[in-house]
Amino acid sequence: MITLNAHAKINLSLDVLNKRDDGYHNLKMIMQTLQLHDIITIQEIKSGIEIECDAPYVPSNNSNIAYKAAEILIQKFGLNAGVRIKIEKIIPVAAGLAGGSSDAAAVLKGMNNLFDLGMNQQQLMDIGKTIGADVPYCIVGGTALAEGIGEIITPLPKMDAIPVILIKPRFGVSTASVFKSLQIDKITDRPKTDLLIEALKNKDTNFIGKNLCNVLESVTVERYPLINKIKRDLMSKESMGSIMSGSGPTVFGLFEDDGIAKKAYDKINKNRVDCILTYITND
Ligand code: ATP
Repeated sequence: MITLNAHAKINLSLDVLNKRDDGYHNLKMIMQTLQLHDIITIQEIKSGIEIECDAPYVPSNNSNIAYKAAEILIQKFGLNAGVRIKIEKIIPVAAGLAGGSSDAAAVLKGMNNLFDLGMNQQQLMDIGKTIGADVPYCIVGGTALAEGIGEIITPLPKMDAIPVILIKPRFGVSTASVFKSLQIDKITDRPKTDLLIEALKNKDTNFIGKNLCNVLESVTVERYPLINKIKRDLMSKESMGSIMSGSGPTVFGLFEDDGIAKKAYDKINKNRVDCILTYITND
């Protein structure tokens, strides 16, 4: 039996470069792991794949992305065994925090150890990208540039472990529908990715906070103006910068130190259920 933490991520930046002939988009994103995590326990059983997950909106059958990850490995390596996978869901679902992708990445890594499959990180990433575009990043984790459809990963200088407040409005957003509504030629405000990377090298967290940028935000804000209200709320509580993560709807705010973040959290948490105080991590 093996237990792993499957961490959530945020996007410090998200740029959509163009649409490809295969329907996917070429992206350029700076990704960052958070302490917030699901807990995945994998146990060897005689045969089959069993998923145990009691979170609402998360399937416990073969449409769970963790099931797909296990199925691929069992087939690829002709394993004469099955797995029981328990998912303790803590990351908000359909939130832009890559919860599902991270669970799948943890299953690939966990089964690699449990069954001594001998795969290196690149081999795990190659399998991961057949499951979902964010899975290769979730295998690497930390601070990283993700390009292509998200599967080309370049590690970046680590960010300091500052506090992050996440606020998830009470609705989920489908990533596919956000990309469908995006008009690439109408994007005016794009992230300064190269300058953000420079700031990571210089540990200039202030610059990063001021220059967080996600081009998908305009699509989601048009549908749900609440996103802008949440950003303003976080900024009014001394956040260094606040944007939507991924395709949303989670909005996050970076904070300079724990004292400011805890004060902000206490005020916000009085009114909202889905408010989480977590930290940047590079685990
Ligand atoms: P991303 O940031 O990669 O776009 P997300 O955080 O927006 O991902 P997820 O939480 O991964 O979205 O879930 C998207 C959908 O996938 C959910 O609506 C859920 O039904 C389905 N799903 C399948 N497996 C899982 C899983 N293990 N955890 C969460 N959702 C899952």
